[in-house]
Amino acid sequence: MRLPVNIFLWTFGATLLPVLALVWGVTAFSEHRFQLEVNREIGDNIQSLTGEINNRLRYEREVLRGIAHSQPIQTMLNALVASGEGIRHPDLTSDRIRANSFLAGLQRTVPGLGSIRILDAAGNTVVKTTLGRAAPPMFQSLSQVNYVEEELEDPAFLNQLKSLPMDDVSFIMLPPSLWDVAPGQFPSMLYGVYPLRNFGNNRAGYVVLNTYGEYLDQILSLSPKPRNTHVMVIEHDPGNPQRDGLVLYNDQTGRLFVTPEESNPNTNPQYAQTIDHGLFWQKAVALSNGVYLSQNKKTRTYFQEYHPYPYSLVSWFIMLKMPADVTSAPFQDIHHSLWGFTLLALGISLLLAGLGARYFSRPIARLGLSLKHFADGNPHEIIPVDSRTTEVRQLQQSFRYLTEHLTEEARKRQTAERQMLQQAKLASIGEMAAGIGHEINNPLNNILTLTRLLERQLPPEKTELRTDLEDLRAEALRVGHIVRGVMNFARQLPPDHQPTPITQWLLDLIDRLQPEAMEADVFLNLLLDDQDCVASFDPNQIGQVVLNLVRNAIHASPPMGEITITARSKPDSFEIEVLDNGKGIEPEALDKVFDPFFTTKSVDKGTGLGLSISLGIVQYHGGTLEIENRQDRSGVRAFMSLPREKSSPRVGN
Ligand code: ADP
Repeated sequence: MRLPVNIFLWTFGATLLPVLALVWGVTAFSEHRFQLEVNREIGDNIQSLTGEINNRLRYEREVLRGIAHSQPIQTMLNALVASGEGIRHPDLTSDRIRANSFLAGLQRTVPGLGSIRILDAAGNTVVKTTLGRAAPPMFQSLSQVNYVEEELEDPAFLNQLKSLPMDDVSFIMLPPSLWDVAPGQFPSMLYGVYPLRNFGNNRAGYVVLNTYGEYLDQILSLSPKPRNTHVMVIEHDPGNPQRDGLVLYNDQTGRLFVTPEESNPNTNPQYAQTIDHGLFWQKAVALSNGVYLSQNKKTRTYFQEYHPYPYSLVSWFIMLKMPADVTSAPFQDIHHSLWGFTLLALGISLLLAGLGARYFSRPIARLGLSLKHFADGNPHEIIPVDSRTTEVRQLQQSFRYLTEHLTEEARKRQTAERQMLQQAKLASIGEMAAGIGHEINNPLNNILTLTRLLERQLPPEKTELRTDLEDLRAEALRVGHIVRGVMNFARQLPPDHQPTPITQWLLDLIDRLQPEAMEADVFLNLLLDDQDCVASFDPNQIGQVVLNLVRNAIHASPPMGEITITARSKPDSFEIEVLDNGKGIEPEALDKVFDPFFTTKSVDKGTGLGLSISLGIVQYHGGTLEIENRQDRSGVRAFMSLPREKSSPRVGN
């Protein structure tokens, strides 16, 4: 998995996820609590509504009871009994006038009373006042009673009347011909009926009261309710399919108790069974109270069953219908903000992951690249140690240590290999040189002996010949010298260690070199850090080495050049460094300077044996000898390090 994805998952999982879960969880919890609160509040609303409706209906029942026991009504009981038997009572007219004026006056003073009827024992309307006005007795009958409404021939209705309990208000539906509504409409409310009792304890007649329900309309329209909430009242009448599910009140469609006409009966549900394909009504009837979420999830309807009429199976469902998002709306903004917050958090965590990954991966990638370069044979590539992350910096340090260590080891191995090769070369060349030297020595000795003999036998006046013979001898000696050098090189004599005061030994050597330096117009500079340093070595052999090094420096130095010879003493060793400011050594020649017979000098100046012999001597002493160009090739640095005490010979520098 890529580093940014890893970091992202970590930061997201470890920090953002719990925070987001917490925030979303708290919001969901609050929303749930809020929903419960709203449910409770609406439950309270419906409760208070039913309470108020109940009060009003109880009041109306009391009015009905009051009418039944009022003087004008009680006075006409006999006339009513007679009318029920088909006889016109002589007091009927005066009783009617009294009752009419009483009831009309009552209607004017007690608002909300619809029509008030006084029925005789046979259920025919003897008196009826509507909205404070008496209806005329215009329907003649055989008995000459003259009813206010059409004579009823409805035995079922009569039986129902007769079965009503005495001394109590009952609620029933009048036959359709007596309904006080427009044709095709149903009255909103049942009719309250109070049976009248005469002195013989028989049913003398009935007072029938129809309340308009304008008070109920007021109660329902003024009741406190949440915004955009509509109220509905639906009748539930299991025994009467015509009224079961009838919508009595719906403030959304304008259907009121007072005006039970639909503003548009085609579109507005007149029956609850048409709402949501009957699903709503099914649930309401089954549960009595609860909440219904419409199928399109747009509205939520709270309903509660209420029994407005005592001793009746008829009930009302009081319903509050509101948009489903009323409860979720306040959380809409919070949800939007939360989504914004979540997206922002995601963005930030992605950004952080990207930055973090770059921050962490870049040094590691760079480290990898440097290591690759190193492995590809570029040991001078420097591993950076610059990360600000402690662990990464430690890694960088470890790798730098590793590469430095490997480089150093590789350098040592190379040098050792070179030295071994050198020694092998020296050994084979030495053997050959020793053989040649040995072969040349005998004839050379013969030449010298013969030359000496000739010199002795030569007459003194032959000065010219004598000079030639001397030259011949000098040349032979010179050849002998070279041969000895070659022999020396070939079979290195073991060093004769002597405790040597460094200062004096070096001053003697410089003295010997001074004439050559002056001739080359070069200045010799000697620096000593310890005047009293004494070391154990072969002063002749090591002296030979120093002479070689300084001579090479003199040969390389330009006129007016300066050669600095520095001696430093260390606890276990002493070092001699020879610095010149000559032209330096060509890079390709640098590897060969220790090779026997490698020289860039003319025949009379160099044999190419100086450094190879010197290296042999130094190694025989257990020391090291290095020749390198100074910085910018501003000359050569020759460096020799020797142990202060006698030690075993070493291989390699
Ligand atoms: P020789 O001096 O006889 O040439 P050496 O073995 O002493 O033999 O030196 C080998 C070669 O190394 C020299 O010919 C010269 O090219 C080079 N060399 C040694 N020392 C120096 C120096 N100080 N400056 C420049 N070249 C040097």
